[in-house]
Amino acid sequence: MTIYYVNKKPEKTGEHLVHKKECEHRPAYENCDYLGYFAKPDEAVRQAEIFLENISSCEFCCKEE
Ligand SMILES: [Zn+2]
Repeated sequence: MTIYYVNKKPEKTGEHLVHKKECEHRPAYENCDYLGYFAKPDEAVRQAEIFLENISSCEFCCKEE
């Protein structure tokens, strides 16, 4: 299980990116919302979709294993 965050500010593409806590691409804590502990990035994305639209997962920390 890993802690996930979602970027409050959308990327240029309009997407809000989900990151793992330890990702070096994660924005500062004040610029992201805590999602919680999840086993897979997909689950964190679903959680973020409850309160944000157009969610994608970070290609660096959320790649399929
Ligand atoms: Zn990331």
